[in-house]
Amino acid sequence: MSRDPAATAATHLPAVDLVLGWAPVAALVALHGRSAVLEAVRAELAALRALRWDRAEPPRRIDDEPLASSSVDEGAIADAFDEGTIAAVIAARVEAARAPSLRKVFNLTGTVLHTNLGRAPLPAQALDAIAQVAAGASNLEFDLVSGRRGDRDDHVEPWLRRLTGAAAATVVNNNAAALLLVLNTLASRKEVLVSRGELIEIGGGFRLPQIMARASCQLVEVGTTNRTHLADYADAISPKTALLLKVHASNYEVRGFTAAADARALAALAKARGVPFVVDLGSGALVDLARFGLPHEPTPAEALAEGADLVTFSGDKLLGGPQAGMVVGRADLVAAIRHNPMKRAMRCDKLTLAALGAVLALYADPERLPEHLPALRWLTRPAAEIAAAALRLAPVMAGWLGSSAGVEVVAVQSQIGSGSLPVDLLPSFALRVAPADGKRGSGRALDALAASLRRLPIPVIGRIANGAVLLDLRCLASADDETAFRALFSPAAPP
Ligand SMILES: *Cc1c(COP(=O)(O)O)cnc(C)c1O
Repeated sequence: MSRDPAATAATHLPAVDLVLGWAPVAALVALHGRSAVLEAVRAELAALRALRWDRAEPPRRIDDEPLASSSVDEGAIADAFDEGTIAAVIAARVEAARAPSLRKVFNLTGTVLHTNLGRAPLPAQALDAIAQVAAGASNLEFDLVSGRRGDRDDHVEPWLRRLTGAAAATVVNNNAAALLLVLNTLASRKEVLVSRGELIEIGGGFRLPQIMARASCQLVEVGTTNRTHLADYADAISPKTALLLKVHASNYEVRGFTAAADARALAALAKARGVPFVVDLGSGALVDLARFGLPHEPTPAEALAEGADLVTFSGDKLLGGPQAGMVVGRADLVAAIRHNPMKRAMRCDKLTLAALGAVLALYADPERLPEHLPALRWLTRPAAEIAAAALRLAPVMAGWLGSSAGVEVVAVQSQIGSGSLPVDLLPSFALRVAPADGKRGSGRALDALAASLRRLPIPVIGRIANGAVLLDLRCLASADDETAFRALFSPAAPP
């Protein structure tokens, strides 16, 4: 008649050493090493002890440590303290602990270039290029002709010059870094003029005024939120002015009574006053996307032709490549940027440069870009093709869900994402999955449904709208992905 339920439970639990000796657990040790298995055994015994305690004192809550994988069912453990079950759960714990945290998911949110889901998918050519240089030595900073030291920019600068018409180009870790580096190089302890209508926050804490401060620049706001004229810039230019900055309004739109200074006029003004004109394009499509039926997005070539001295843009937005930040334009300014010691702290690694070089090379054949560049393939996918996929996959999901939820095919609109206008929508189709139990507790049922989709071996990320999970199938574009998606919902894998 013990008064201590924990002590009672503990006497019934096997010792760590005993568990390590069980045949299936010993096999795990041979496979994964003693440390990893020992950790899993200890965690499992602690979980079982907590469960027993919980049963003795029902109101107590268990806060077991979170598991990376869904494959451990704590309820099942409580009912079966036998060797086989415990060994299986230990195996699952070892697997979960070893599984990489960063992994593939299906982006069915309807936002194509989703920053939280890794933005642009890379083409096969980029993956090959990464594999080539990743496994061994490469000519990263080595000139094979002269046998002397080279510059890592050499691998992409010729492509960037050719594709934008710029005299020079350099690449850093991302566009935020590119902008920071440009400002710090050209305008440290000096003034930078920006329209009040362009003082943006991109997301993830990227706010223009803060970037300015970190670059040691003095921000000078000109004009008003909705209207900024050329004269506003002209009046604000002083001997302390280092540059004029224009920022592409990425993720919002100013509508109604609006005015912005014309880029050509701004460039002429900057030139007359002897200060550089810098344009942050954000997405920066390298070709006119209108040729593929998409909304036109300003290109670096256009910005340079309008008179920009430097243009910055991202590698993993509409360009469809790896995360990177491009600076293209005047050779003297690019040279100054290369010499800034901060450049060293922001440089790209060889994997990025390999991928970027391969993606830029695809632009030599612009007609076939949507064939080769998955980001463009996703963006230009015909709605009819997406609808056909939805009709093929709806029954598969319905079979998996059984009576717990209903599935229907609905017309939706995808967003381009990553700083393309949210008003530019692409017609698409989705599987609309709604929990069966009507109004009562439907919010919780909906969350549970979304969570069960996230727990699949390849997590499926949709969006919740009007009491249902919407799975926009635009980005499930390859035959391989469709096969893998089907496999997730095969009868052997119920929710
Ligand atoms: C996205 C964006 C950035 C930031 O680019 P990253 O590559 O994400 O660092 C900067 N400016 C504009 C206008 C953008 O749209």
